[in-house]
Amino acid sequence: MSDGAAAAAYPGLATKTVVAGVIDGHNVWRADLDAKLTTLEGLVGPQGLGAGAVAVGTSTSLLHVPHDADDEQWGNDSTPGAARRKLDPRLREWLAFANQKVGEVATLARGLASGRDAVADELRASSDAVASRVTAEGVRVPEVRERLASLTAGDFTRGAYAERAAAQQAALGLPLLPTTTIGSFPQTPEIRRARAQHARGALPEAEYTSAMQAEIRRVVELQEQIGLDVLVHGEPERNDMVQYFAELLDGFATTANGWVQSYGSRCVRPPILWGDVVRSAPMTVDWSSYTASLTSKPVKGMLTGPVTILAWSFVRDDQPLGDSANQVGLALRDELADLEAAGIGIIQVDEPALRELLPLRAADQPAYLDWSVGSFRLATSGVRTETQVHTHLCYSEFGEVIGAIDALDADVTSVEAARSRMEIVPELEAVGFARGIGPGVYDIHSPRVPSVEEATELLELAVKSIDPHVVWANPDCGLKTRRYAETVPSLENLVSATKAVRATL
Ligand code: GLN
Ligand code: ZN
Repeated sequence: MSDGAAAAAYPGLATKTVVAGVIDGHNVWRADLDAKLTTLEGLVGPQGLGAGAVAVGTSTSLLHVPHDADDEQWGNDSTPGAARRKLDPRLREWLAFANQKVGEVATLARGLASGRDAVADELRASSDAVASRVTAEGVRVPEVRERLASLTAGDFTRGAYAERAAAQQAALGLPLLPTTTIGSFPQTPEIRRARAQHARGALPEAEYTSAMQAEIRRVVELQEQIGLDVLVHGEPERNDMVQYFAELLDGFATTANGWVQSYGSRCVRPPILWGDVVRSAPMTVDWSSYTASLTSKPVKGMLTGPVTILAWSFVRDDQPLGDSANQVGLALRDELADLEAAGIGIIQVDEPALRELLPLRAADQPAYLDWSVGSFRLATSGVRTETQVHTHLCYSEFGEVIGAIDALDADVTSVEAARSRMEIVPELEAVGFARGIGPGVYDIHSPRVPSVEEATELLELAVKSIDPHVVWANPDCGLKTRRYAETVPSLENLVSATKAVRATL
């Protein structure tokens, strides 16, 4: 039965106007108007609902997409900073933001009411755009495709955890309950200003680099004073944990004005994945090497994982998400190899969005977990036995995906746990989680400074149920939204609490 006949047969619909949401409100791609009009024509007749009974609409409200593609600057500009703010002009004809989608709705309504001839030009332009995307350079990169096609199971697996743990302990010599942070340190107004000036092209590259290096130096000295065991560089150079990588990877475009609501009054500019993902140069190695040169303590490299990069981007609609995830995974795999070669012995790959992308339908979940876990393992399985891979998850309850977290096979996993008072601990026990685990003992979502007693209690809860040899002490998440006034005493208390608990073991 055709869509139209099915709709006409549905009791009660005959007296109603059906709004056909044929324009996708969730993505930013221009629609194939010819195909959409065919769908609408089928709905209307001859066995369908009849002319006048069908209105054309978008599939959702348009708050998920940016306002107007005409607000972007289009052009090829290869100066650093400005480069990434100008969208490749080819994308102009492939994209439809909210205003363009409204135009598509109007065109389809006109075509439906007045016939195809009335919108012939629009239909042709839309078909041309769809066709040009298929063959455009960069959409399918043969080297990327070949590399993906030749992957084997071995590319997704590391050696046994017990061997890795022993090699890592020999290389790193960490104390019981090692202390660390999740990556970012407070983003001060000075850092934000320097980054904004650099993006505008108003701060020369060398001055920008030395401003960021000075910030890294301060953060390293602070961590040493506080007595943390595994140091981070603090991420001052990152505007956002996804956009930062999207700006450095070919295949992604980032917009100047493509804001969408994230939650409440917070807005983000999701990058747009339009082509195959290519890492043309190392992305984080200079910052991490510089950090390591300042200290004799281990420094943790910091990357964002494939699932999170895709979850917080507009993704291409011409291939399965799992294929895109593996492309990002390969780019990250190369970055991990370069970090390792530069002497970075600990590398964290954040996947806070792992739970967020989990499909609602139980039947769809195994396939999702399969590709999402696979892309993380592809990213992280190329490193040496003694290189310690960390991951970090937050923003949700993890009970439902605890098996997948286990399957990531990271050496150390840090998770949000302070607010829930270690709710995750029994869940970890239930799956027999046996690798490194850092349940957060400092809730970074509030400016409140946790006392030593409070952090001690949470750590004691953790080591009561989990083998103390695998427990880490860390905050719930990154510190970028906090101020130093809260961060310093909170981390001092975390270190004091850890020392107190260590003494009892
Ligand atoms: N490494 C990131 C940070 O510390 C992780 C952020 C996150 O999990 N949302 O900011
Ligand atoms: Zn987090």
